Amino acid sequence: MSQSQSHLSALFSEAFRQLGRNRPVPEIEVRFYPYAGISHKIRLRSGRVYVRISDIFEKAPPEVHRAIAYILVARLLSKRSPETHERVYRAYAYSPQVLRAQDLARRQRGRKMLSSARGRVYDLDKLFQRLNRRHFDNELEKPVLTWSQRRTRRILGHHDAAHDTIVISKTLDDREVPEWFVEYVLYHEMLHIKHPARLIKGRRYYHTNAFRAEEQRFPYYDEAQRWLEMVALKRQVPRARAA
Ligand SMILES: [Zn+2]
Repeated sequence: MSQSQSHLSALFSEAFRQLGRNRPVPEIEVRFYPYAGISHKIRLRSGRVYVRISDIFEKAPPEVHRAIAYILVARLLSKRSPETHERVYRAYAYSPQVLRAQDLARRQRGRKMLSSARGRVYDLDKLFQRLNRRHFDNELEKPVLTWSQRRTRRILGHHDAAHDTIVISKTLDDREVPEWFVEYVLYHEMLHIKHPARLIKGRRYYHTNAFRAEEQRFPYYDEAQRWLEMVALKRQVPRARAA
């Protein structure tokens, strides 16, 4: 979690304390999301609150972030949001610079985002759905799924938590690569959504024991490890990996 995100979570906690009266403040996870337009979402699941804010607002001033927190928390609690926050939000959301950014995002993302998950051979959306059903009880929120622009050979997959995006190396979108291997790399990245990085004594741990244990439950885990070794031998590069 970046500094700006923990700052945002603090704003949402504040809004809960103010609007929720005697309710306990839940754990809150806030992410920016590259929506095609201005859109923010808040939902409650198993006692945790998940917030997605349009990344167009990532650089907004603090008072706008606070306004968003109050408006979304009010929505979740079915309350009216304070008028002052509505005003601050509207003034920013309808400013020329934000309208322009929104317009640009819509044009650049609207269609491209939908099609970039579909490669020439493999469709990441389909693979995600299947893995989500088989291994996650359909509990994972779908992130942005996309093939990499360049053919990265060493890093085969990457999860960007701040932007809720999984990128899979274009080198895997190939008939020579078995489907179970592409699934393994995607499964690894999906585990990063389920097991967020843990901060221990100022260090960030991505592959915790719980993460590794669950990774090994993948039906083709051993085959995938051998495939990774083989790829490295063939290309004479250090062992490729899912980051
Ligand atoms: Zn990883």
